[in-house]
Amino acid sequence: MTVLFTHPDCLLHNPGPGHPERPERLKAVLAALDHPDFAALDRREAPFASEEQIARVHDAGFVRTLLDRVPSDGMVRLDADTAMSPGSGNAALRAAGAVVAAVDAVLAGEAPNAFCAVRPPGHHAEPTHAMGFCLFNSVAVGAAHAQAMHGLERIAIIDFDVHHGNGTQTMTASRPGWLYGSTHQFPFYPGTGSVREHGPYGNIVNAPLASGDGSAEFRAAFGDVILPALDRFRPELVMISAGFDAHHRDPLAAIELDEEDFAWATESLADIARRHAGGRIVSLLEGGYDLTALAASAAAHVRVLMSA
Ligand code: ZN
Repeated sequence: MTVLFTHPDCLLHNPGPGHPERPERLKAVLAALDHPDFAALDRREAPFASEEQIARVHDAGFVRTLLDRVPSDGMVRLDADTAMSPGSGNAALRAAGAVVAAVDAVLAGEAPNAFCAVRPPGHHAEPTHAMGFCLFNSVAVGAAHAQAMHGLERIAIIDFDVHHGNGTQTMTASRPGWLYGSTHQFPFYPGTGSVREHGPYGNIVNAPLASGDGSAEFRAAFGDVILPALDRFRPELVMISAGFDAHHRDPLAAIELDEEDFAWATESLADIARRHAGGRIVSLLEGGYDLTALAASAAAHVRVLMSA
């Protein structure tokens, strides 16, 4: 059965009035997962990640400085679209801690897979700085934990968020035991993610999509580029940066997917996980900014995980 990790602290990160990465996103996802269809989820509280766990992928000085800068009231701005409120430090520690706990649960065989319903997202966060709504790179913290504490040698991170996960790519580039595969709108924020970026170990696989692309182009990119690379890599654990902002309703981007496409991608990854990883999947919420589309897409994703 699927484990669901979340925590009320993740609602207390507020990047400011009118910001698209708002607490209502997580409320919408959790409301959708309150439906009787999801009664069998094994619901658990996300713990805090430790600074040591986060410092496996981030500069230790950056981690301490970021937590020291969390305001006791008001806001602290980190870049043009990234800011912290008094609840941001705990939210970011819970988000990364959820992924660490999910890795532990799945690798202990307590469940075949887990979904972390958390915010802030993480895939833009670089080793030495927060960026693009992201504070700590939670999926990378989880992958590093799987490697350090569980001895895994091959971990795949698949990112279908509409934005390229520049931070995860940077962290993967120096770790030959990881594979990073991404579909994303290109050219688009954050500017990285060209098909020519492979990294020194050849473990980065970008399958960019053009503005206006939809289901057919997404499934072709995923099926012809990402899935064969995963089959060759033979991951022992499949991690998913599950952003749902490639949905046609999303206000931030121009890819035209619907929830069925996310379900299909999840099925495809479950198939890879069954073939190579004993079925083990750890997924976490990244982007998705239309509340209706986000809730329906996350529900479709989790429904597939529950039946995987
Ligand atoms: Zn995104």
